Amino acid sequence: MKDRLHDTLSTLMTIPGLSGHEDRVRRHIRARLEELGIASRSDRLGNLIATLEGEPEAPTVMLFTHMDQLGFVVRKIEPDGLVRVERVGGVPERALASQAVLLCVGEGRDVPGVIANKSHHATTADEKYTVVPYAELHIDTGLASAAEVAAAGIAVGTPVVYLPRVLELAGDRIAGTSVDDRAGCAVLLELAGQLKEQERRPTVHLVFTVQEEFNLRGALPAAQTLQPDIAIQVDLVLATDTPDMRARGDVELGGGPAISLYSFHGRGTLNGVIPHPAMVRLFEEAARAESLPLQRSAHIGALTDLSYVQLAGEGAASIDVGFPIRYSHSSLEVCDLNDLEGLTRLIAAAVARIDRNFSLDRDDGAA
Ligand SMILES: [Zn+2]
Repeated sequence: MKDRLHDTLSTLMTIPGLSGHEDRVRRHIRARLEELGIASRSDRLGNLIATLEGEPEAPTVMLFTHMDQLGFVVRKIEPDGLVRVERVGGVPERALASQAVLLCVGEGRDVPGVIANKSHHATTADEKYTVVPYAELHIDTGLASAAEVAAAGIAVGTPVVYLPRVLELAGDRIAGTSVDDRAGCAVLLELAGQLKEQERRPTVHLVFTVQEEFNLRGALPAAQTLQPDIAIQVDLVLATDTPDMRARGDVELGGGPAISLYSFHGRGTLNGVIPHPAMVRLFEEAARAESLPLQRSAHIGALTDLSYVQLAGEGAASIDVGFPIRYSHSSLEVCDLNDLEGLTRLIAAAVARIDRNFSLDRDDGAA
């Protein structure tokens, strides 16, 4: 399973799919589902939905993960051909200068570029320790005039992402672009094959969602249509085992899958997820039964679109489950394949335990 996860993830990491422009990723995932004999459909926003019918009396499950990635769109093309961009999603501005990027004009026609970094020899003492805001940066594609840029297919609104790449690190660790959340997509594809063969299980809607990095609400139309009883989001959990993160928690890269017990984002968003107690119990029991480690995360600052999905219909019993990640939203995010394998096993085991007797009553077994 680990080799398959490795191959699926590596392929997915190299397919560009900025928020709102996920089409190439969706086409790939749809084809992979077809290979498994699983039909899928997409809604008008671009969410890809595959329903695996199961036990009719059991609660229905929406198991989802996002296909999109953060990046930029072209904002202005200077007369000399340099390109200015607007940001899409939570872009780490202090880690942008001298990054390689890809301007996505169409498969086979994409244009590479570099985010300029002022020549070091001309950098003043003050500038050395100052972050240049993204709005002041420019992208150099080598194209020498606005006309050349236009002829290459680049226009205001063209999506720009970190140049897709995969680095194999020691110890089953993978570094590269959009591990957030192609690792989730790889896990969901692996689960698709497994759940299809599982004899007893509830109806599961696998949903590969759009625009998570943009506004955290792309999954909403899918949730409103499906009205699931249970919503499980697969995404990253922040690893806290580097010196800069240690005070934030106890999540280790390679330490196994994790559940989130609390997430919140204040600045303008005012949302988060406090998981349903039955879902916490479900994952704890599944981890015990499978002899899998289960890490726990509680964080302010990082959200998923589960925050909105949980509010659809009568409300869905919700939980965020995930894989530890280091250096989130940078061009070289790091995850561990063993965590992805553990996460796949954990979710398969948890879903298998959801039957007609699985209670979502808040008063059952309440603390
Ligand atoms: Zn994510």
